[in-house]
Amino acid sequence: MKAFRHLYGPVPSRRLGRSLGIDLVLHKICTYDCIYCQIGKTTDKTLVRKEYVPVKEILKEVRRFLKEETSSIDHLSLSGSGEPTLHSQIRSVIEGIKTITSIPVAVITNGSLLYEEKVRQDLLHADIVLPSLDAISSEVFMRINRPRPGFSVEKVIEGVVEFRKVYKGQIWLEILFCKGVNDSQEELMRMKKAVDRIQPDRIHLNTVVRPPSERWAAPLNPKEIEKIRDFFGEKAEIISEFDRHPPSMLERDIKEEIFKILRRRPLSLSDLSKGMGISQNELDQYIKPLAQEGKIQTRIYGGSIYYEISKES
Ligand code: SF4
Repeated sequence: MKAFRHLYGPVPSRRLGRSLGIDLVLHKICTYDCIYCQIGKTTDKTLVRKEYVPVKEILKEVRRFLKEETSSIDHLSLSGSGEPTLHSQIRSVIEGIKTITSIPVAVITNGSLLYEEKVRQDLLHADIVLPSLDAISSEVFMRINRPRPGFSVEKVIEGVVEFRKVYKGQIWLEILFCKGVNDSQEELMRMKKAVDRIQPDRIHLNTVVRPPSERWAAPLNPKEIEKIRDFFGEKAEIISEFDRHPPSMLERDIKEEIFKILRRRPLSLSDLSKGMGISQNELDQYIKPLAQEGKIQTRIYGGSIYYEISKES
Protein backbone atom coordinates (compact mmCIF):
# COMPACT_ATOMS: atom_id res chain seq x y z
CA MET A 1 0.00 0.00 0.00
CA LYS A 2 1.33 3.42 -0.96
CA ALA A 3 2.22 5.63 1.98
CA PHE A 4 0.50 8.91 2.72
CA ARG A 5 2.62 12.06 2.55
CA HIS A 6 0.26 14.58 4.07
CA LEU A 7 -1.80 12.49 6.48
CA TYR A 8 -0.76 11.05 9.81
CA GLY A 9 -2.39 8.84 12.33
CA PRO A 10 -5.13 8.46 13.24
CA VAL A 11 -3.51 9.73 16.43
CA PRO A 12 -4.98 9.89 19.91
CA SER A 13 -6.00 13.47 20.53
CA ARG A 14 -6.85 14.55 24.03
CA ARG A 15 -9.61 16.74 22.63
CA LEU A 16 -10.72 15.25 19.36
CA GLY A 17 -10.83 11.52 20.03
CA ARG A 18 -9.44 9.49 17.16
CA SER A 19 -8.21 12.16 14.88
CA LEU A 20 -6.75 11.90 11.39
CA GLY A 21 -4.16 14.63 11.07
CA ILE A 22 -3.70 16.56 7.85
CA ASP A 23 -0.40 18.36 7.53
CA LEU A 24 -0.78 21.60 5.58
CA VAL A 25 2.74 22.96 5.95
CA LEU A 26 6.19 21.45 5.97
CA HIS A 27 8.22 20.85 9.13
CA LYS A 28 8.58 23.27 10.83
CA ILE A 29 6.95 26.37 9.43
CA CYS A 30 5.16 28.55 11.95
CA THR A 31 4.53 32.13 12.98
CA TYR A 32 5.66 31.25 16.52
CA ASP A 33 8.43 29.27 18.17
CA CYS A 34 6.74 28.27 21.44
CA ILE A 35 8.96 27.10 24.27
CA TYR A 36 6.63 24.15 24.88
CA CYS A 37 6.26 23.06 21.25
CA GLN A 38 6.26 19.29 21.06
CA ILE A 39 7.36 19.16 17.43
CA GLY A 40 10.62 21.00 17.94
CA LYS A 41 12.11 24.38 17.17
CA THR A 42 10.67 26.47 14.35
CA THR A 43 13.05 26.48 11.41
CA ASP A 44 11.05 28.88 9.25
CA LYS A 45 9.34 31.60 11.30
CA THR A 46 7.23 33.32 8.69
CA LEU A 47 4.07 35.25 7.89
CA VAL A 48 4.06 34.22 4.24
CA ARG A 49 0.86 32.44 3.26
CA LYS A 50 1.21 30.13 0.29
CA GLU A 51 0.16 26.75 -1.01
CA TYR A 52 2.88 24.85 0.85
CA VAL A 53 1.26 21.56 -0.14
CA PRO A 54 -0.92 21.22 -3.28
CA VAL A 55 -4.62 21.09 -2.37
CA LYS A 56 -5.22 18.43 -5.04
CA GLU A 57 -2.68 16.11 -3.41
CA ILE A 58 -4.24 16.55 0.04
CA LEU A 59 -7.77 15.84 -1.16
CA LYS A 60 -6.60 12.86 -3.18
CA GLU A 61 -4.99 11.38 -0.07
CA VAL A 62 -8.06 12.04 2.11
CA ARG A 63 -10.24 10.32 -0.48
CA ARG A 64 -7.89 7.33 -0.65
CA PHE A 65 -7.52 7.08 3.13
CA LEU A 66 -11.26 7.05 3.72
CA LYS A 67 -11.70 4.40 1.04
CA GLU A 68 -9.02 2.13 2.52
CA GLU A 69 -9.56 2.77 6.22
CA THR A 70 -12.13 0.54 7.80
CA SER A 71 -12.17 1.94 11.35
CA SER A 72 -13.89 5.03 12.60
CA ILE A 73 -12.39 8.51 12.69
CA ASP A 74 -13.84 11.18 14.98
CA HIS A 75 -12.34 14.24 13.34
CA LEU A 76 -10.19 15.32 10.44
CA SER A 77 -7.76 17.79 11.97
CA LEU A 78 -5.85 20.40 10.04
CA SER A 79 -2.67 20.91 12.03
CA GLY A 80 0.59 19.02 11.71
CA SER A 81 4.12 20.28 11.40
CA GLY A 82 3.46 23.98 11.94
CA GLU A 83 0.74 26.62 11.65
CA PRO A 84 -1.98 25.44 9.23
CA THR A 85 -3.45 28.90 8.48
CA LEU A 86 -0.19 29.73 6.72
CA HIS A 87 -1.54 27.54 3.91
CA SER A 88 -3.10 30.08 1.56
CA GLN A 89 -5.69 27.58 0.24
CA ILE A 90 -6.91 26.24 3.58
CA ARG A 91 -10.44 27.25 2.62
CA SER A 92 -10.30 25.04 -0.51
CA VAL A 93 -9.00 22.18 1.63
CA ILE A 94 -11.91 22.51 4.10
CA GLU A 95 -14.50 22.89 1.37
CA GLY A 96 -12.96 20.02 -0.61
CA ILE A 97 -13.09 17.70 2.42
CA LYS A 98 -16.76 18.59 2.89
CA THR A 99 -17.50 17.23 -0.58
CA ILE A 100 -15.83 13.92 0.33
CA THR A 101 -17.05 13.15 3.86
CA SER A 102 -19.29 14.30 6.68
CA ILE A 103 -16.60 13.69 9.32
CA PRO A 104 -16.22 17.00 11.20
CA VAL A 105 -13.25 19.17 10.27
CA ALA A 106 -11.23 20.78 13.07
CA VAL A 107 -8.55 23.43 12.65
CA ILE A 108 -5.90 23.50 15.35
CA THR A 109 -4.30 26.92 15.07
CA ASN A 110 -2.26 29.31 17.15
CA GLY A 111 -4.74 31.99 16.07
CA SER A 112 -1.97 34.41 15.19
CA LEU A 113 -3.25 35.17 11.68
CA LEU A 114 -6.91 35.66 12.56
CA TYR A 115 -6.36 39.40 12.53
CA GLU A 116 -6.45 39.07 8.72
CA GLU A 117 -9.98 39.25 7.33
CA LYS A 118 -9.05 36.71 4.63
CA VAL A 119 -7.93 34.12 7.21
CA ARG A 120 -11.15 34.58 9.20
CA GLN A 121 -13.17 33.99 6.03
CA ASP A 122 -11.09 30.94 5.14
CA LEU A 123 -12.03 29.14 8.37
CA LEU A 124 -15.76 29.82 8.31
CA HIS A 125 -16.66 26.34 7.03
CA ALA A 126 -14.69 24.38 9.62
CA ASP A 127 -16.77 22.65 12.30
CA ILE A 128 -14.44 23.42 15.19
CA VAL A 129 -11.65 25.94 15.43
CA LEU A 130 -9.20 25.44 18.28
CA PRO A 131 -7.10 28.56 18.70
CA SER A 132 -4.52 28.92 21.42
CA LEU A 133 -3.87 31.99 23.53
CA ASP A 134 -1.15 31.60 26.13
CA ALA A 135 -0.41 35.20 27.02
CA ILE A 136 -1.98 38.62 27.16
CA SER A 137 0.86 40.87 28.17
CA SER A 138 3.49 41.56 25.58
CA GLU A 139 6.34 40.44 27.79
CA VAL A 140 4.81 37.03 28.51
CA PHE A 141 3.78 36.61 24.85
CA MET A 142 7.38 37.19 23.74
CA ARG A 143 8.68 34.77 26.33
CA ILE A 144 6.32 31.85 25.76
CA ASN A 145 5.36 32.08 22.07
CA ARG A 146 8.45 33.82 20.67
CA PRO A 147 6.54 35.20 17.67
CA ARG A 148 8.00 36.47 14.45
CA PRO A 149 9.11 40.09 14.98
CA GLY A 150 6.35 42.58 14.30
CA PHE A 151 3.58 40.59 15.98
CA SER A 152 1.63 42.25 18.74
CA VAL A 153 -0.45 40.20 21.12
CA GLU A 154 -3.18 42.88 21.05
CA LYS A 155 -3.56 42.26 17.33
CA VAL A 156 -3.79 38.51 17.90
CA ILE A 157 -6.52 38.94 20.55
CA GLU A 158 -8.49 41.34 18.33
CA GLY A 159 -8.32 38.77 15.54
CA VAL A 160 -9.85 36.04 17.71
CA VAL A 161 -12.54 38.43 19.00
CA GLU A 162 -13.44 39.43 15.42
CA PHE A 163 -13.51 35.78 14.36
CA ARG A 164 -15.99 34.95 17.12
CA LYS A 165 -18.35 37.59 15.75
CA VAL A 166 -18.59 35.97 12.30
CA TYR A 167 -17.98 32.28 12.97
CA LYS A 168 -20.98 30.07 13.71
CA GLY A 169 -19.10 26.89 14.64
CA GLN A 170 -17.47 25.85 17.90
CA ILE A 171 -14.47 27.71 19.26
CA TRP A 172 -12.43 25.75 21.78
CA LEU A 173 -9.80 28.05 23.18
CA GLU A 174 -6.66 26.42 24.52
CA ILE A 175 -4.40 27.99 27.10
CA LEU A 176 -1.18 26.16 27.83
CA PHE A 177 0.54 26.97 31.09
CA CYS A 178 4.25 26.79 31.76
CA LYS A 179 5.30 27.14 35.37
CA GLY A 180 6.65 30.56 36.22
CA VAL A 181 6.04 31.88 32.71
CA ASN A 182 2.33 32.62 32.17
CA ASP A 183 0.71 31.52 35.44
CA SER A 184 1.01 34.66 37.57
CA GLN A 185 -2.13 36.04 39.19
CA GLU A 186 -1.85 39.25 37.13
CA GLU A 187 -1.60 37.35 33.84
CA LEU A 188 -4.53 35.13 34.81
CA MET A 189 -6.68 38.21 35.51
CA ARG A 190 -5.78 39.60 32.09
CA MET A 191 -6.56 36.25 30.46
CA LYS A 192 -9.97 36.11 32.06
CA LYS A 193 -10.82 39.51 30.64
CA ALA A 194 -9.68 38.45 27.17
CA VAL A 195 -11.63 35.18 27.42
CA ASP A 196 -14.77 37.14 28.39
CA ARG A 197 -14.38 39.15 25.18
CA ILE A 198 -13.70 36.12 22.99
CA GLN A 199 -16.62 34.05 24.35
CA PRO A 200 -15.30 30.61 23.37
CA ASP A 201 -17.61 27.60 23.62
CA ARG A 202 -15.02 25.78 25.69
CA ILE A 203 -11.80 26.68 27.45
CA HIS A 204 -9.18 23.95 27.40
CA LEU A 205 -6.49 24.23 30.01
CA ASN A 206 -3.30 22.42 29.36
CA THR A 207 0.24 22.23 30.61
CA VAL A 208 3.47 20.70 29.40
CA VAL A 209 2.72 16.99 29.16
CA ARG A 210 5.00 15.96 26.31
CA PRO A 211 8.71 16.71 25.86
CA PRO A 212 8.94 20.44 25.09
CA SER A 213 11.14 22.29 22.63
CA GLU A 214 12.91 23.96 25.56
CA ARG A 215 13.83 21.65 28.39
CA TRP A 216 13.26 24.44 30.92
CA ALA A 217 9.56 24.75 30.01
CA ALA A 218 8.05 23.14 33.10
CA PRO A 219 4.51 21.89 33.76
CA LEU A 220 2.08 22.99 36.46
CA ASN A 221 1.18 20.33 39.00
CA PRO A 222 -2.42 18.97 39.10
CA LYS A 223 -3.43 21.15 42.06
CA GLU A 224 -2.19 24.31 40.37
CA ILE A 225 -4.05 23.63 37.16
CA GLU A 226 -7.24 22.65 39.03
CA LYS A 227 -7.11 26.00 40.79
CA ILE A 228 -6.88 27.74 37.43
CA ARG A 229 -9.83 25.71 36.12
CA ASP A 230 -11.95 26.90 39.06
CA PHE A 231 -10.82 30.46 38.37
CA PHE A 232 -12.02 30.29 34.73
CA GLY A 233 -15.39 28.81 35.65
CA GLU A 234 -17.78 26.31 34.11
CA LYS A 235 -16.58 26.47 30.51
CA ALA A 236 -13.08 25.50 31.55
CA GLU A 237 -11.80 21.95 31.56
CA ILE A 238 -8.43 20.36 31.98
CA ILE A 239 -7.70 18.34 28.90
CA SER A 240 -7.89 14.70 29.87
CA GLU A 241 -5.90 11.87 28.34
CA PHE A 242 -7.32 9.94 25.42
CA ASP A 243 -8.87 6.75 26.77
CA ARG A 244 -10.58 4.97 23.93
CA HIS A 245 -9.66 1.69 22.30
CA PRO A 246 -10.27 1.95 18.59
CA PRO A 247 -10.40 -1.14 16.39
CA SER A 248 -7.26 -2.56 14.91
CA MET A 249 -5.40 -0.96 12.11
CA LEU A 250 -5.40 -3.53 9.35
CA GLU A 251 -3.02 -3.51 6.45
CA ARG A 252 -0.85 -0.49 6.91
CA ASP A 253 2.88 -0.73 7.23
CA ILE A 254 3.15 -0.46 11.00
CA LYS A 255 6.83 0.41 11.18
CA GLU A 256 6.42 3.17 8.65
CA GLU A 257 3.37 4.48 10.47
CA ILE A 258 5.20 4.53 13.82
CA PHE A 259 8.01 6.44 12.19
CA LYS A 260 5.65 8.91 10.58
CA ILE A 261 3.74 9.60 13.78
CA LEU A 262 6.90 10.01 15.86
CA ARG A 263 8.34 12.39 13.29
CA ARG A 264 5.59 14.81 14.33
CA ARG A 265 5.86 14.42 18.07
CA PRO A 266 7.24 12.12 20.74
CA LEU A 267 4.67 9.69 22.16
CA SER A 268 4.49 7.11 24.90
CA LEU A 269 3.87 3.45 24.04
CA SER A 270 0.38 3.80 25.45
CA ASP A 271 -0.42 6.83 23.24
CA LEU A 272 0.89 5.05 20.15
CA SER A 273 -1.09 1.96 21.03
CA LYS A 274 -4.37 3.85 21.42
CA GLY A 275 -3.86 5.90 18.29
CA MET A 276 -2.91 3.02 16.07
CA GLY A 277 -5.37 0.54 17.49
CA ILE A 278 -2.63 -2.00 18.21
CA SER A 279 -1.94 -3.57 21.59
CA GLN A 280 1.14 -2.41 23.46
CA ASN A 281 2.60 -5.94 23.33
CA GLU A 282 2.23 -6.12 19.58
CA LEU A 283 3.54 -2.60 19.12
CA ASP A 284 6.55 -3.44 21.27
CA GLN A 285 7.61 -5.98 18.64
CA TYR A 286 8.02 -3.14 16.14
CA ILE A 287 9.38 -0.55 18.56
CA LYS A 288 12.23 -2.71 19.88
CA PRO A 289 13.90 -3.36 16.50
CA LEU A 290 13.52 0.31 15.53
CA ALA A 291 15.29 1.29 18.77
CA GLN A 292 18.00 -1.35 18.23
CA GLU A 293 18.60 -0.03 14.71
CA GLY A 294 19.04 3.43 16.23
CA LYS A 295 16.06 4.84 14.30
CA ILE A 296 14.13 5.83 17.38
CA GLN A 297 15.22 6.65 20.91
CA THR A 298 13.61 7.08 24.29
CA ARG A 299 13.35 10.18 26.37
CA ILE A 300 12.11 10.26 29.94
CA TYR A 301 9.85 13.17 30.73
CA GLY A 302 7.62 13.71 33.78
CA GLY A 303 8.29 10.13 34.89
CA SER A 304 7.04 8.63 31.59
CA ILE A 305 8.97 7.10 28.72
CA TYR A 306 8.47 8.75 25.34
CA TYR A 307 9.65 7.51 21.97
CA GLU A 308 11.05 9.96 19.45
CA ILE A 309 12.94 9.87 16.18
CA SER A 310 16.66 9.62 16.93
CA LYS A 311 18.82 12.52 15.83
CA GLU A 312 20.76 10.32 13.38
CA SER A 313 17.62 9.22 11.49
S1 SF4 B 1 3.12 24.91 19.49
FE1 SF4 B 1 2.06 25.37 17.59
S2 SF4 B 1 2.17 27.57 17.47
FE2 SF4 B 1 3.71 26.99 18.91
S3 SF4 B 1 5.59 26.78 17.70
FE3 SF4 B 1 4.64 24.75 17.83
S4 SF4 B 1 3.44 24.62 15.95
FE4 SF4 B 1 3.89 26.78 16.28
